[in-house]
Amino acid sequence: MKKFAAVLLASTVLAGSAVAQDQVTIGVSWNNFQEERWKTDEAAIKTALEAAGAQYISADAQSSASKQLTDIESLISQGADALIVLAQDSDAIGPAVAAAVAEGIPVVGYDRLIENPDAFYLTFDNREVGRMQAQAVFDVQPEGNYVFIKGNSADPNADFLFAGQMDVLKGAIDSGAIKNVGEAYTDNWNPEVAQANMEQFLTANNNEVDAVVASNDGTAGGAIAALAAQGLAGAVPVSGQDGDHAALNRIALGTQTVSVWKDARELGKKAAEIALELAGGAALDEVTDATTFSDGPNGVEMNAVLLPPVPITQENLNVVIDAGWVAKDVVCQGV
Ligand code: BGC
Repeated sequence: MKKFAAVLLASTVLAGSAVAQDQVTIGVSWNNFQEERWKTDEAAIKTALEAAGAQYISADAQSSASKQLTDIESLISQGADALIVLAQDSDAIGPAVAAAVAEGIPVVGYDRLIENPDAFYLTFDNREVGRMQAQAVFDVQPEGNYVFIKGNSADPNADFLFAGQMDVLKGAIDSGAIKNVGEAYTDNWNPEVAQANMEQFLTANNNEVDAVVASNDGTAGGAIAALAAQGLAGAVPVSGQDGDHAALNRIALGTQTVSVWKDARELGKKAAEIALELAGGAALDEVTDATTFSDGPNGVEMNAVLLPPVPITQENLNVVIDAGWVAKDVVCQGV
């Protein structure tokens, strides 16, 4: 608490000159930067920390769960006062998080659940994202053969999304209106893996696939490439999420149906604010806007903040343009 107060004071008094010695340091452990969104998240965290006079340090695990463990040790030894962690593998990360907490360094599980009651959980409502994905596809295609391109199995969001998708589709599956003709996790959310899985599902079903519920925009892109190779792009509804620029353009072009938009600028800003509150001595349940979340695989009650997602279709593409998320010419390229 003292250190944080001192930093605020020092940065006000010295107005920009070096206060590094006493500066609060927030360490961010990224799992990779494969998706476009993560650079947006990072920029938002950095901007908010800078505005508060705090220092940003980071590491990129490059999709390696074991590298992420040593990354976290290294962030701690560099003096991190709090950590923000985007986990590659929710189970593998456990010991590193427990060690940080044991040393009195608060941890924010960023976007992906780290199910430890001593960590904070900040994310969008992922089950709601899944519902929005399925609903938009179902609105266009309420019957027929459905394929599910799921996320990375080590990422709890993959199952939260699928659960949300089933909230919407279970009735139609039970009644027989919809048939699940293919369902696969996508290793590391890799678009090429998604494309290969989609190719297999098309082959196995003699191209008789009527709808694709893909769990993010990267995997949607892979699935749409496989559909395009069979002349089916645009004829089969496909979901995604993240508001990737390429996906928003596909929506304008009509090859993707929906991208559930999660404003990563808001999540990043909130993460910085929460990390600073915790580094300043706030208890987990004292964090601004904190609620509780206990819908993880082990039912552990977590202090959490869940931001609301927004589905974007051809009908409301203006929302992301008006919000300054993407320029109109990027969305409308080739339309
Ligand atoms: C995030 C998505 C992202 C995916 C791949 C998920 O945990 O919620 O926004 O597309 O990871 O990085």
